[in-house]
Amino acid sequence: MTVREVRDAVRSGVRSASEVCRDALARIEALNPRLNAFNSIAADRALATAEAIDRDRSRWRDAPLAGVPIAVKDNICTLGVRTTASSRMLERYVPPYDATVVARLESAGAIVVGKTNCDEFAMGSSNETSAFGPVHNPWAFDRTPGGTSGGSAAAVAARLTPGALGSDTGGSIRQPSSLCGVVGLKPTYGRVSRYGLIAHGSSLDQIGPIVQSAHDAAIMLGVLAGADAADSTSAPEPVPDYTAALTGDVRGTRIGVPRALLEQGVDAEVAAATTAALDALKARGATLVDIDLPHARYATSVYYLVSTAEASSNLARYDGVRYGFRAQPSGTATAVRYDLRQMYARTRAQAFGAEVKRRIMLGTYVLSAGYYDAYYLKAQQVRTLILRDYDQAFERVNAVAMPTSPVPAFRIGERVADPLQMYLIDVFTVSANLTGLPAISIPCGFTRGGLPIGLQLTGRRFDEATLLRVADAYERDTTWSTQLPPILNP
Ligand code: GLN
Repeated sequence: MTVREVRDAVRSGVRSASEVCRDALARIEALNPRLNAFNSIAADRALATAEAIDRDRSRWRDAPLAGVPIAVKDNICTLGVRTTASSRMLERYVPPYDATVVARLESAGAIVVGKTNCDEFAMGSSNETSAFGPVHNPWAFDRTPGGTSGGSAAAVAARLTPGALGSDTGGSIRQPSSLCGVVGLKPTYGRVSRYGLIAHGSSLDQIGPIVQSAHDAAIMLGVLAGADAADSTSAPEPVPDYTAALTGDVRGTRIGVPRALLEQGVDAEVAAATTAALDALKARGATLVDIDLPHARYATSVYYLVSTAEASSNLARYDGVRYGFRAQPSGTATAVRYDLRQMYARTRAQAFGAEVKRRIMLGTYVLSAGYYDAYYLKAQQVRTLILRDYDQAFERVNAVAMPTSPVPAFRIGERVADPLQMYLIDVFTVSANLTGLPAISIPCGFTRGGLPIGLQLTGRRFDEATLLRVADAYERDTTWSTQLPPILNP
């Protein structure tokens, strides 16, 4: 069932929240051992919340997410529920507070059922950097679900929960959604509070929904969006009724297609599905417009300079003192010789994985006095040029379309040995984070081998409504979103 269907069933009393919750927990118990999508299952908290809803049904009669089980990425803080960012560093960290998004979900009637596996500190594109093992793609167990919100995307694709939260620094909501055949929305920078999100790149991070349909994304965004006194980067813009935008009408909507960009390194089946999806939108009355994004080809380079710089700074807080793991002196070190520096160094050496260390080193390097101008400053300048390209395009179009990922789900182990090959997967997603623009990934087909393909639409600042309207209109003509992965076809 979709978010909307579960919500309607609970509101009307056809199903109780407890029943829905127990079913979700049973599905997780049955399938999670094969998927590894969850780091923690919050059964007690979930059932207690569900029972409270059932006890006081009138209070939740109009709640937008009444009784809807939601999976939350494990880099988003949950009061009393372990939040690890899939790192040894935070393996035993239990936050003393809820992230604002979690509080908002619960006050809308949602039920947090567990915390999903992700790449360590949301660094990766395949969920393989997790300290707790990779997530398996529900469409093909030997393949990655993408990353870094791989557990959330796999959970929704395998219908363990109707919806999930992800976070997106360079594509981590959209790329796994694309590789798992579900809908993922990265809102405009500032649209959703990040209070309680474990920081990766502070000028890039956003939280957003991973769901089965554009309508569900509209419901979820309506709950999540809005200013938050606890996050000074959250925007005061009023929150529209996103579901009201879903008219099915795309006549007069102008969709920009950056043809030159799409000629480079895109898998033939992905390219064909993208073209077919654009034709379908055209048949519905949208106008396709050729556009040029001349600086987009630098986006991956710029992203891996800016994001590593910010990550190196954000991750300085994991020092063995304030929270999380602390290395103990080894057998030979006496109390005197185990000084503070050794404790810092050993803690970070032991508890961070290889990808996190690589990024801390790269980020520290590009911020160092000797190289700041050549790398970090230059990257920020090119970032402005990328933003200008989009601003110019949006003078002529309402949305920009391209594939979400240049390739469908790849095999576990295929790219992990070569960081550059992994980084290049992000070519189409990172620009939305560098520019702060909203972007959505929607299912638009399958390869001959049965792997999902995603279409990405990027919109104007704070114009998520247009993306949702176009995505919803497209869904009305297609059935990609309703197909089930083999794991659910006995
Ligand atoms: N793949 C990108 C990275 O590794 C995106 C990560 C993300 O969005 N959290 O940085």
